[in-house]
Amino acid sequence: MGGILDGKRILVTGVTMDSSIGFSVARVAQEQGATVLISNFGRALGITRRIAKRLPTEPPVLELDVTDEAHLDGLADAVREHVDGLDGVVHSIAYGNPETILGGKFLDGPWDDVARAVEVSAYSLKALAMACRPLMGPGGSIVGLTFDATIAWPAYDWMGVAKAALESTSRYVARDLGPQGIRCNLVSAGPIKSLAAKAIPGFEDLESMWNDRSPLGWDEKDQEPTAKAICALLSDFFPATTGEIVHVDGGYHAMGA
Ligand code: NAP
Repeated sequence: MGGILDGKRILVTGVTMDSSIGFSVARVAQEQGATVLISNFGRALGITRRIAKRLPTEPPVLELDVTDEAHLDGLADAVREHVDGLDGVVHSIAYGNPETILGGKFLDGPWDDVARAVEVSAYSLKALAMACRPLMGPGGSIVGLTFDATIAWPAYDWMGVAKAALESTSRYVARDLGPQGIRCNLVSAGPIKSLAAKAIPGFEDLESMWNDRSPLGWDEKDQEPTAKAICALLSDFFPATTGEIVHVDGGYHAMGA
């Protein structure tokens, strides 16, 4: 039976636990016929290697710290050890220090920590796109993950600013890689109970009201709707869509109250 990603070679970054959105993306992509590589960085790499065994097919695990020039420079060769190119790249990476710039500390957030958040969460989309560009050709698709940065949220603070930067970065990547036939889009997901979300003090308040206010309802333990939308954007079914942000949030963003 054919899947929408049959024959596609896809790198999924940001897989730490099976609660990672990236883990569900890897699973759905494999179910849809893709050959998947996953990556993570530093101390969590051992966990990623164990978690990789829980996927339908155990994928190669690459080491990639998106702020490490040597890792970025070596990424194309590391990928070529497993596949001869990439059709899709998933950016599922964010970091902000929960002690200093999240959880209601907006007015005191120090620049060094804000800068780190913007580097890891936004600039890295451009860095990853450039590292993967030699592996990609026409029809290639880059997909990242945001949390609606057009408005201010409780607790999200400087990560919201970093996401605004990510959303803008995605449009510029779309502008500059479009002429090569490479698309760049984001999925704006509702709150999901991952490691990253649990680290944000007060984020759980958002989770409970999300289900009440979304016309379709929202299950914060279910990564699959988000993963499916990402796989759709990786597929050939969005051939003329780039610089776009697709909401996968139960419809929350469209409601006034
Ligand atoms: P997650 O499992 O914690 O994934 C975030 C990943 O980023 C982790 O694997 C983390 O690795 C990795 N990372 C951090 N710094 C990195 C670096 N320098 N280089 C490479 N990787 C790095 O949480 P998630 O919720 O699935 O997050 C995935 C994406 O979805 C993020 O962009 C997040 O902002 C976005 N998103 C999440 C939600 C939500 O409610 N969960 C909603 C909308 C959008 P370590 O675990 O080793 O630190």
